Amino acid sequence: MSGATEANGVIELNGGLTDLVKPAIRAISAYDGGHGAAAIRLDANESPFDLPPEVKEELAAAVTTIPCNRYPDPGARELRSLLAEHAGVAPEQVMIGNGSDELIQIILSVFGGPGKRALIHPPTFPIYALAAAWSSTEPQAVPLGRGFSLPAAEIIAAMAGGRGVVFVCNPNNPTGNGYPEADIEEILAAGLSRGWVVLLDEAYAEFSGRPSAVRWLDRYPNLAVLRTLSKAFSVAGLRIGYLAAGAPLVRELWKAKLPYNVNVLTQAAAAAVLRRKEFFLDRVRWLVGQRERLADALAGMDGISPHPSETNFVLFTVEGGRARSLYEGLVEAGISIRGFFGDPALRDCLRVTAGRAEENDLFLAKLADLAGRKG
Ligand code: PMP
Repeated sequence: MSGATEANGVIELNGGLTDLVKPAIRAISAYDGGHGAAAIRLDANESPFDLPPEVKEELAAAVTTIPCNRYPDPGARELRSLLAEHAGVAPEQVMIGNGSDELIQIILSVFGGPGKRALIHPPTFPIYALAAAWSSTEPQAVPLGRGFSLPAAEIIAAMAGGRGVVFVCNPNNPTGNGYPEADIEEILAAGLSRGWVVLLDEAYAEFSGRPSAVRWLDRYPNLAVLRTLSKAFSVAGLRIGYLAAGAPLVRELWKAKLPYNVNVLTQAAAAAVLRRKEFFLDRVRWLVGQRERLADALAGMDGISPHPSETNFVLFTVEGGRARSLYEGLVEAGISIRGFFGDPALRDCLRVTAGRAEENDLFLAKLADLAGRKG
């Protein structure tokens, strides 16, 4: 039944707007990033450090001098060439987004749609499945294997008889682990021969120390490597993500983005942080040390086992059905981490983002009080 009728030239909605909504949208819930109002926020994989004063000053100067009445450069030439230099590709191989989230949406608006599929390896970043619903692409789950391993053979088998986009998050959020290069290359090669685009999400790559898949772009025209400045470069609030791919793929994506998706102030901020790349990569090294400290301390707590991480966070399993009570105990103490209570694959897991030293100290002390130390 249609949700609308027309009487005397007036359209009336029957049963409210929901009748008119695409079933795939009705079936999903809005993204909940888990942002608590807690004093100590270790729940959203952000950088715990704001921009340094000299970048803030540059931004303040940009607000004063950049004409806000003019649209941004539609080709984003300066930003694209800075990102290209940073990623080691040509400017025409770079696509920019209002956060890398937006690029997930754009890739599905170009390579997804009715009759296409999105192969997704849960547990992983929830936006892939949401963006599949937005674009009327059929999501197909190919769950991670034991130890959260990449199910490369199963993903390749799932490509049969169709086309679409394969999502591989490396290292993976929320599990934290990275995947063997050989498995990723097998997926790329199979995708190339069977007509699948592979979106390789490297949101946390700076924390992994592994070489970027950008080096495979010449070999795999079906590869798109997704990166963000939200994590390692401390600008989650300014929203800037980018994607590196072959120039023909980028040309198609460029057609599907809103003309001015990255505003002039964000473009200036992105340029300012990229000019100080070494400063931010030092912070990354420091955060990797904190991640290791968190993992070691977690391993010393009763009934808690951290999973290996190549990111700025640690996922840990809590024995004895205590995940929720530990989570709530932390919230009561003003410390917010991430729980996954609706997800059977992660029911006993919690995720903590590496924060400032004193935040990590407080988290570890409180959790040790709640969980107890190993006998
Ligand atoms: N990919 C992954 C794997 C993420 O974890 C996130 C952020 N949580 C994003 C993409 C999106 O980041 P942004 O939109 O801030 O660039």
